[in-house]
Amino acid sequence: MADKELVSTKKCPACQQWSHWQQLTSDRCEHCGELLDPRAYADVQQQAAMEQQQGGIQLMEIGPEDGGVMRFFKTIVRGGQLLFIAILGFIVWLVTAIAG
Ligand SMILES: [Zn+2]
Repeated sequence: MADKELVSTKKCPACQQWSHWQQLTSDRCEHCGELLDPRAYADVQQQAAMEQQQGGIQLMEIGPEDGGVMRFFKTIVRGGQLLFIAILGFIVWLVTAIAG
């Protein structure tokens, strides 16, 4: 029994032709060279930019499986993190303003 090759195909949003893809957001159409999943690609880019903006601070994630108490606790932690990011941003702005 031969192993079935794991090949995925995706319909290109630009030229409407089926193209092979590795299920990566950066995969491009083999017919026209456009991104096969431009929306996911944009999401990844945006997420990377946001993480860079936050100085690598990982925000507390609140999942739907979290209970009431956990949700409450995580919301406070998340609020503190956001406040920290805001203060950090303010200091950066202040330093820039003084230096300029
Ligand atoms: Zn295409």
